[in-house]
Amino acid sequence: MIYLFWVNQMKIVFLGTASAISTAERDNTSLLIDNILIDCPGSVFSKLLQLGYDPFESMEHVIITHRHTDHFYGLPALLDTLQLKKRKKSLFLHILYEYVDLLERLFSIFDLTGSKMNFLKLVPFKEGETLIRNDSLLVESFPVRHTVKNVGLKIFNRDVSLVYSSDTEPCETLLEKAKGASLLIHEATWSEALTDRKEGHTSVEEASRMAAFCSVKKLCFVHLGEELIGREEIILQQALKYFSGEILIPKDLDTLVL
Ligand SMILES: [Zn+2]
Ligand SMILES: [Zn+2]
Repeated sequence: MIYLFWVNQMKIVFLGTASAISTAERDNTSLLIDNILIDCPGSVFSKLLQLGYDPFESMEHVIITHRHTDHFYGLPALLDTLQLKKRKKSLFLHILYEYVDLLERLFSIFDLTGSKMNFLKLVPFKEGETLIRNDSLLVESFPVRHTVKNVGLKIFNRDVSLVYSSDTEPCETLLEKAKGASLLIHEATWSEALTDRKEGHTSVEEASRMAAFCSVKKLCFVHLGEELIGREEIILQQALKYFSGEILIPKDLDTLVL
């Protein structure tokens, strides 16, 4: 019975929690959910080692949500490290069809080609497609509203569901997917109390209203704009005006078991 309890949990590690501008406290946003890395800014390999996570055996999938630098630029460095360490186990790289050309150009620039890269299995996808389906998890993509084509993710196991907004303005697809979710991990690049509107992004207040509308159990803020960092008390106060469930503002390398 204990074993069954554990296999139905989902472990989420917040590798970074800042928006495109990282700070001394917070790096660009990326997540590790069980064996899936979501987005790849810098220093991911080092962070995985700090966490005691084995990047050779444990990590099986990388999902790049969109082409913006803060979600993508560390990928060549991560893959180069894996090939230098002679990774053999397959690593599935999920990326929108629209960005395959950009990826191939990056691989060419950094000479990430040939048989040394045989471990890498490229899996291009269209927005709305299911990316991963295995015994323990189902991962679906859905379109969101950003300044470039981008996807949010919905991840389920038998008992819990998690929705990750990636970078987006408030949008219908997110509202639909987040209905009743156990956890909504939402970007909060700006706040009505602290900054001007940021095009293509969501405020703390908007995300909180959506979490309430969707009756999610927990709301977690990531992709914090630089003006919000160090003002977590204000983020919390603003969020509590609209959402009465559990609110989390994780720090880099915090872990959450769902
Ligand atoms: Zn971003
Ligand atoms: Zn973006």
